[in-house]
Amino acid sequence: MRIVALAGGIGGARFLRGLKEAVAPGGDPSPSAPAEITVVGNTGDDIHLFGLKVCPDLDTVMYTLGGGIHEEQGWGRADETWSVKEELKAYGVGPDWFGLGDRDVATHVVRTQMLAAGYPLSAVTEALCARWRPGVRLLPMSDDRVETHVLVEDAEGRRAVHFQEYWVRLRAEVPALAVVPVGAEDAKPAPGVLEAIAEADVILLPPSNPVVSVGTILAVPGVRQAVAEADAPVVGLSPIVGGAPVRGMADKVLAAVGVESTAEAVARHYGPGLLDGWLVDTSDADAVPGVEAAGIACRAVPLMMTDTAAAAAMARAALDLAEEVRG
Ligand code: GDP
Ligand code: CA
Repeated sequence: MRIVALAGGIGGARFLRGLKEAVAPGGDPSPSAPAEITVVGNTGDDIHLFGLKVCPDLDTVMYTLGGGIHEEQGWGRADETWSVKEELKAYGVGPDWFGLGDRDVATHVVRTQMLAAGYPLSAVTEALCARWRPGVRLLPMSDDRVETHVLVEDAEGRRAVHFQEYWVRLRAEVPALAVVPVGAEDAKPAPGVLEAIAEADVILLPPSNPVVSVGTILAVPGVRQAVAEADAPVVGLSPIVGGAPVRGMADKVLAAVGVESTAEAVARHYGPGLLDGWLVDTSDADAVPGVEAAGIACRAVPLMMTDTAAAAAMARAALDLAEEVRG
């Protein structure tokens, strides 16, 4: 079985860890493993800092699946130290709001060096994964530069800021007026992305941010159409539980695109043209009839990723729903 998932950072990575466990319990490494997972990762959060190219969502997936993640934080490296950050601060060189740990810096140095040598991001990501062995094929959505900007208005005026500045520096406390994936319209899907989608047996939308993670991937020309036209069933999982995101600022960026923060509204936002199936949390069971009325098969199951076993159960429910709606 060939599975393709479109993933952001934490929500995507934790779901993927469960998916791996669901298809190969105990991490069966045999070549006859029952499934091959291709992850199309969001690169709209990428940022250039101190001359380094940082890809937060790709790294979160790589570290989480490869065993290097800071588990409680959900991003960055385990056992991290912060000497580089302190030294930069001593020089008065900013920005000081981005968490750039010493171990993490090595990843960005390797990436930046390879990009400077002319390798595309997809090849660089493959090289980084040779160390981390995430057990999935991790593809950036595009080798081209795409940067999500958020239009905000506060005491400093009305302006567009980089997504990381909106989220990390402003803590999403300023209302988002619009979200723009700058460069997306001219970006090409990375090599292998459209092929993987076309050849997939199942396509999954993890409980990633529908606007700045999955939405950005779908904004790369050709990707939305490939998912919509694929033979494979497309099943998504709601990142919104009980009318709020489980963590993060999905409610703020959903408001910016005029979508309510409910499991049903997110399903309708993706729409029946894209989604065949949708999972909502058991606490949102009353959303099921509304989603089905929109032409999307819907089931209510526990959607809290409290541990890998819980995420694996979610993945099994998604694969079961995919079988149900197939054909
Ligand atoms: P980011 O790039 O690190 O923000 O991560 P993603 O875009 O992949 O995922 C963010 C989304 O994951 C948020 O909207 C959260 O609501 C959602 N999320 C995080 N943990 C859980 C969970 O345990 N269950 C569900 N259903 N959603 C979750
Ligand atoms: Ca992200």
